[in-house]
Amino acid sequence: MTDRVIPLLDQRFASPRLPVPEHPLAPTGLLSDALGRPLRDLRISVTDRCNFRCSYCMPKEVFDKYHEFLPHAELLSFEEITRLTRLFVAHGVSKLRLTGGEPLLRRHVERLIEMLAELRTPEGAALDLTLTTNGSLLAKKARALKESGLQRVTVSLDGLDDAVFQRMNDVGFPVAEVLRGIEAAQAAGLGPIKVNMVVKRGSNEDQILPMARHFRNTGIVLRFIEYMDVGATNGWRMDEVLPSGRVLEVLGREFELSSLSASAPGETAERWAYADGGGEIGLISSVTQAFCGDCNRARLSTEGKLYTCLFAHSGHDLRALLRGDYSDAQISGALGTLWGGRSDRYSQLRASQAPEAASGGGRRVEMHYIGG
Ligand code: SAM
Ligand code: SF4
Ligand code: SF4
Repeated sequence: MTDRVIPLLDQRFASPRLPVPEHPLAPTGLLSDALGRPLRDLRISVTDRCNFRCSYCMPKEVFDKYHEFLPHAELLSFEEITRLTRLFVAHGVSKLRLTGGEPLLRRHVERLIEMLAELRTPEGAALDLTLTTNGSLLAKKARALKESGLQRVTVSLDGLDDAVFQRMNDVGFPVAEVLRGIEAAQAAGLGPIKVNMVVKRGSNEDQILPMARHFRNTGIVLRFIEYMDVGATNGWRMDEVLPSGRVLEVLGREFELSSLSASAPGETAERWAYADGGGEIGLISSVTQAFCGDCNRARLSTEGKLYTCLFAHSGHDLRALLRGDYSDAQISGALGTLWGGRSDRYSQLRASQAPEAASGGGRRVEMHYIGG
């Protein structure tokens, strides 16, 4: 791995301020981008820090003791995040996911959850409020998270074998502690819980069956994620991607599975059910099967840059608007105009051309910084 890690070229401070148009679009909840896709899902990165060093996300060789994480003053405050989220909700967002870095490392994140849990859609409905975590602090925090208004969690876990998992997280973190976190989340009622497993060929594909056996009949949905070429530091290579089709073949050796229909438009996972009623699994095939066609997701970075695609190489600076003399109507108008002009479809283009050409050239943003 070490020989293929690529040094970080810092893109964080490069973004221009998002222009405020003279005649902005007022929020109607019915925004549509240049390809007819609505805005429904907002992923908010609350910290760029993490206590893991997963090689596919924050390789140790790059994110070492010399790496400068964002200073606190650069982060969006909880008030700023909530103000922006309210504007996004007026434009149609109904699903919020807190992510990072490791979101449970952000101090008092429960307070932010309380503030977000109070928001309502224009129809008066509560938002779908969830969080993705590596599970390391979940045993300690599950109950407080639930009490603050979080509805459910997704926990990342790349294997059940300690040697494999510790190699993946690269800080020697034990499987048992993540499992304890998942149990605590279940006990606190933070369900339905999803578990994300990134499958990297040559690293953890031998964990597919043990993970499936473990989470069957538990009500927890295990999702297998293809190792993606996000960011620019993980030295991604196509030959390390295990296509979802192969995951399905491996599962098929032991289980009978039948395909289910998507639960919602824009759903990233292809759903499969165990024929004997043991629950369901998901396959997220971001590399081998582009799902840009109904991508309704926007991502807000830790210091307030908006990314309209996971593979973008620059974001739009919303913090400059929040900290400038702009009204809610002006910021809302800027968001509406930005989404109206969105035409991102990186995964689709990647299928037909070189990755750098698909993202318009330049270095892509890192996953831990905008969240998954
Ligand atoms: N730290 C939290 C965690 O790991 O759950 C939240 C942030 S993490 C960036 C969000 C998700 O992105 C995780 O499920 C992680 O496995 C996934 N991820 C990170 N890098 C990835 C890559 N190169 N390919 C596929 N998934 C990746
Ligand atoms: Fe941290 Fe999550 Fe990235 Fe792993 S995937 S390094 S846990 S942010
Ligand atoms: Fe959405 Fe970009 Fe991923 Fe396509 S590549 S599904 S547009 S985030």
